[in-house]
Amino acid sequence: MICDAHVHFFSPGFFAALKADRAAVAALGFDFPDSVESLADRWVGELDANGVVRSALMASLPGDADSVATAVARHPSRFVGFFMLDPTRDDAIAYATRALDAGLRTICLFPAMHRYQLHDERVTTAFELAAARPGTAVFVHCGVLSVGIRKKLGLPSPFDIRFGNPLDLHGMALRFPQVPIVIPHFGAGMLREALMVASLCPNVLLDTSSSNSWITQTPGLTLDQVFRTALEVVSAERLLFGTDSSFFPRGWNRAIYAQQQAALDGLGVPTGDQEMIFAGNFQRLFRLGCRQGAGRAD
Ligand SMILES: [Zn+2]
Repeated sequence: MICDAHVHFFSPGFFAALKADRAAVAALGFDFPDSVESLADRWVGELDANGVVRSALMASLPGDADSVATAVARHPSRFVGFFMLDPTRDDAIAYATRALDAGLRTICLFPAMHRYQLHDERVTTAFELAAARPGTAVFVHCGVLSVGIRKKLGLPSPFDIRFGNPLDLHGMALRFPQVPIVIPHFGAGMLREALMVASLCPNVLLDTSSSNSWITQTPGLTLDQVFRTALEVVSAERLLFGTDSSFFPRGWNRAIYAQQQAALDGLGVPTGDQEMIFAGNFQRLFRLGCRQGAGRAD
């Protein structure tokens, strides 16, 4: 069984917010979605084709939560809704409250993108919202942040990597021990810091998603070593498989799955542990019942 903890939903609203029209999107080699509904259906077909039971679906700009809420309402047994929140906006709390009330389950913070400190009081308020709704997580992008589509569209990315230090989550993780915190891409270059905070706080999990190209920034480091170290420090129970899939026609990025499964097989990780990483932890995190086999109608 596979659950994917990291999939982006590049909705019509997402492209509109980037001021990318159909022609600009086509020039990138991406398909422009006709509607939220058709894109949601296309993703379900893609999950079915790859034997993926459930996936996260992330609204990937602040303001696009409604698109994901529509997709989740259409396929509630297949998608878990995530949404990007910019807590520095005046309407952040109202927006996040509305998204959570609509059934979305994870608040996604990108502090380097929106340039705020993780120990800011406005972040505390976001955690309070999650704490008030059991089964709600906070996703915090740390480390290297590069948004491929922004680069391809020639959009500026005035990010500030200093704000994405996993150590800045320590106090928040202690203050809200009941709120699961997901750090994607093993910390995206800050593996040591992510593991430090995870070793101190049992509510911190790591997602394994993407090509993890940050590995090349540490001489000699390999994906096998990253997995081995993470398994030693936090165990299989706190690793969430993800691909970071986003656009069509590529669809679900099976190559990432194959690469990570090969790494875990190579390390001799037992089947039960692999089942937790590839599906069980995601199901437990979001309190989802086991659902064997993909492809059934909702
Ligand atoms: Zn991503």
